[in-house]
Amino acid sequence: MELYQLTIHELQEKIKKGEVTATQVTQSVFERIDAVEGKVHSYIRLMKDEALATAAKADEEIKNGNIKPLTGIPIALKDIVCTKGIPTTCGSHILHNFVPPYNATVVEKLRDAGAIFVGKANMDEFAMGSSTETSYFGPTRNPWDLERIPGGSSGGSAAAVAADECIASIGSDTGGSIRQPAALCGIVGLKPTYGRVSRFGLIAFASSLDQIGPFTKDVEDCAIMMNVLAGYDPRESTSVKEDVPDYRQFAGRDIKGWKIGIPKEYFVEGIDPEVNTAIKNAIAVIEQSGGKCVDISLPHTQYCLAVYYIIAPAEACSNLARYDGVKYGFRAADARDLLDMYKKTRMQGFGAEVKRRIMIGTYALSAGYYDAYYKKASQVRALIKKDFEEAFKKCDVIMTPTTPTAAFKIGEKTDDPLQMYLSDIFTISTNLAGIPGISVPCGFTSGGLPVGVQFLAGHFEEGKLIQIASAYEKNANIEKRRPAL
Ligand code: GLN
Repeated sequence: MELYQLTIHELQEKIKKGEVTATQVTQSVFERIDAVEGKVHSYIRLMKDEALATAAKADEEIKNGNIKPLTGIPIALKDIVCTKGIPTTCGSHILHNFVPPYNATVVEKLRDAGAIFVGKANMDEFAMGSSTETSYFGPTRNPWDLERIPGGSSGGSAAAVAADECIASIGSDTGGSIRQPAALCGIVGLKPTYGRVSRFGLIAFASSLDQIGPFTKDVEDCAIMMNVLAGYDPRESTSVKEDVPDYRQFAGRDIKGWKIGIPKEYFVEGIDPEVNTAIKNAIAVIEQSGGKCVDISLPHTQYCLAVYYIIAPAEACSNLARYDGVKYGFRAADARDLLDMYKKTRMQGFGAEVKRRIMIGTYALSAGYYDAYYKKASQVRALIKKDFEEAFKKCDVIMTPTTPTAAFKIGEKTDDPLQMYLSDIFTISTNLAGIPGISVPCGFTSGGLPVGVQFLAGHFEEGKLIQIASAYEKNANIEKRRPAL
């Protein structure tokens, strides 16, 4: 095994025993990047010099016996989290030259835990998309099949982990952008409870839905990352003062006697038969592991997509109003006056999908339509949330497919936004309800594409997700394959 192929916990052991140095691990990851990045394009920006300098410092610390939870571990950051002094583009032309004057809280937490930043990962523009094809910097490819998309919007972060171009990474999830690419790239991805991880320094898409979370190679690594990321932040008003357990203690515990809710609305027409089979097999593994599957209903599921595509664009059009070419970012060159400058900057600076969302959001919020769209959507959102509250009276966790299909071909859905939006049909409800969700690999299609299973739990029950995901991972014993790159 090469160092770049190992997990966080495996590398930690080696670093602790003095078998490898942080510099060796970092060099190994950059050798891998040199070999495969030309094919996959996971990154918008690499930070090799910074990474090697951090690794050298980490090796000094290690010599002094000072080893922190992520000392010497190369991590990729989605290019939506602000990094002080390092360009942060959000996958957009309008921010192609934006250099943040501060770090996101998660960046500081990871740095303080000893992480080594490998680079800024590619993403759909402003996190709007399910395929990483809307990035101004070109698409990322799925390491399992370079003709296919890695999922999105955090496709670069997911592909980087799957292709061993980093050991773990950070993404953000507004409607599925961590769990969907995790499923399509065959790795673990967790969206925490709204308020569990600070959004300070996360470039906002839809502020009532956005959460930051980890991508990892296994469930134990996910727990390690959550230990670092979770917690209250006085700089972020929606972050919650709730104790952070040691998530690692949940990995390896059994799930005997647990009730697993299977929502009938998530097993409908449109699911790829091979995905369906993989999920059915996963349900069998959960039952063999001591879980008892019970039928539940989430009756407002059919409205989730419609509600999301009112609320998310409404919040986005308000959040994106700040990109006007005045204080930072791209500014159109040939403007006659201020109004013309605004217009041209926004016309040339934003891509088609972002403009589509701004128009939908502006319409939904406009006088005369607000009650019919935004207000109504907010009311239905409350019902969706209530569905979950009722469901969790009957079960400990809920189990669903993460996505209706495996990775689709590049270009297959770019002309049909509705088809693209349907990729998130199973992940969006979680964000609307504010609850946590995890996607774990559950096998492959006959064509060799990864499939993911999703577990959902009540607010602040990430521990339960780690527990069931690790029990599933252990007992399913999914064949360990690596993408042939
Ligand atoms: N694919 C969904 C969208 O386009 C979700 C994106 C996300 O979670 N950031 O809005």
